[in-house]
Amino acid sequence: PKQNLAQFMIDTAKKHPQHTALFFYGKKITYEQLLKETYRFANVLKGLGIKKGDRVAIMLPNCPQSVISYYGALMIGAIVVQTNPLYVERELEHQLNDSGASVLIALDHLFKRVKNVLPKIEVRHTIFTSMKDYLPFPKNILYPIKAKKDGLSMEVIYDQNTHSFKKLLSIESARPINVKMDVEEDLALLQYTGGTTGVSKGVMLTHYNLVANTLQTRAWVYRSEEAKERYLATLPFFHVFGMTTLMNLSMQLGGTLILLPKFDVDMTLKLIDKMKPTTFPGAPTMYMAIINHAKIKSYDLSSINICISGAAPLPGEVQETFEKLTGGKLIEGYGLTEASPVTHANNIWEKRKLGSIGIPFPDTLAKVVDPDTGEELENGEVGELIIQGPQVMKGYWKRLEETSDALKDGWLYTGDMAKIDDDGFFYIIDRKKDLIIAGGFNIYPREIEEVLFEHPAIMDAAAVGVPDEYRGETVKAYIVLKEGASTDEKELEAFCRERIAAYKIPRIYEFRESLPKSLIGKTLRRLLVEEEKEK
Ligand code: ATP
Repeated sequence: PKQNLAQFMIDTAKKHPQHTALFFYGKKITYEQLLKETYRFANVLKGLGIKKGDRVAIMLPNCPQSVISYYGALMIGAIVVQTNPLYVERELEHQLNDSGASVLIALDHLFKRVKNVLPKIEVRHTIFTSMKDYLPFPKNILYPIKAKKDGLSMEVIYDQNTHSFKKLLSIESARPINVKMDVEEDLALLQYTGGTTGVSKGVMLTHYNLVANTLQTRAWVYRSEEAKERYLATLPFFHVFGMTTLMNLSMQLGGTLILLPKFDVDMTLKLIDKMKPTTFPGAPTMYMAIINHAKIKSYDLSSINICISGAAPLPGEVQETFEKLTGGKLIEGYGLTEASPVTHANNIWEKRKLGSIGIPFPDTLAKVVDPDTGEELENGEVGELIIQGPQVMKGYWKRLEETSDALKDGWLYTGDMAKIDDDGFFYIIDRKKDLIIAGGFNIYPREIEEVLFEHPAIMDAAAVGVPDEYRGETVKAYIVLKEGASTDEKELEAFCRERIAAYKIPRIYEFRESLPKSLIGKTLRRLLVEEEKEK
């Protein structure tokens, strides 16, 4: 449907007013209460002079305020800019300047960081909120919140441009808001890309894009009854994966969001055991952390029915072990910020294939083309994955050149290399940019990582190309061992020799405690390459 994205919440609040929309550390918020708070916040923004098309930055972890601010801004036709609360001043300044945000909503303990950036940005109003604003203090039934001070924290000093979220809401009315919109044209979000491969770009997503992707996900993954699913919200809503497959989908389906401000494996297991969620979309690192947990057997995980993994490749072993542990299904999907984000997934009711991202979503076309000539390739051949569908972005914010590189003749060029099998299943080979060329051979690091993952001592692994005098580049492997496990270079080389061609075998190995990860858990190969270059 062509509607404002916030309409999902309005419709559900009408149908299931008393159903729990949010669960936050023991506090329940019904759809009726949530809608009232959201209308209040929309009126707050209006009162501050925010109009359709203005940018509203939200710098919050998963909490009731992040849901309220998001839909409140959308209701008045403002454009949401999701800002990672972990951003340091430089990143914050880049994103707020690039987007031209006029309001920023942030946690109170970020006050100092925000205050330092304010003179350099156009933000007119800041609104601060405390994690405690929606807590039934002091009863913290599951675990206490440790207000982590970052050394920069200080009390918020309020003035005419610096406001308290709680106070603003307490004096505003909950009258409904209706703004005329052209939902196919009007932006809902400026969603910044993960910055895995370079500078983070603002992706322009319309209401229509996001409504479409929510409904596509529902059709493919959760064909369940309304008001039935209980989502464990471990993925952050400020990342597009969590935003669509958790927050927007739960609002559409009338689900309950069990909010967790930060992924923590112990807490995740405790919450599954006690709160009985039916599902939680996640990144592979989350599922890996769960299956490798030392006390995994002491938790009851049987409430989990369906989980969708995305953002990075899901190792087959992780999928199988997770399914055995929970009795539910873990399916792999694929997407990118530029597509709201999901374009492919294994369909839950039909044939699934291990190692495949599945088939394209409804109304989504996908092809694999020669990256140089643009010609469509035969099944089995590796080329660039291109996409067409209602979830594809309008372009990058203020980046015409990058937009015309990514969008050509109505197709989105994903920058990912892929192949299709004869049953129409898609496989991601790797990112185009991460290709290693060693002695004239093309090597995709993912293939090597998959082999390393099969080794019983290895918990995590990354392969990158490092400069080599003779071969141009050579493969270097970074290894993180499982607790108490051991192996060495010689043994790993022999292990690889049995499984991949000689030219692909890593020549250099480095053992580490951990690998650099993006917030969502993607291995940042780029940083490993930069480290090597600096050497
Ligand atoms: P940037 O575009 O700024 O470099 P990013 O690529 O991490 O950052 P996202 O939009 O968050 O930005 O991530 C999309 C990318 O994640 C895809 O292009 C793809 O490379 C990777 N990805 C997503 N799902 C999968 C999957 N199932 N298997 C392999 N890779 C995946």
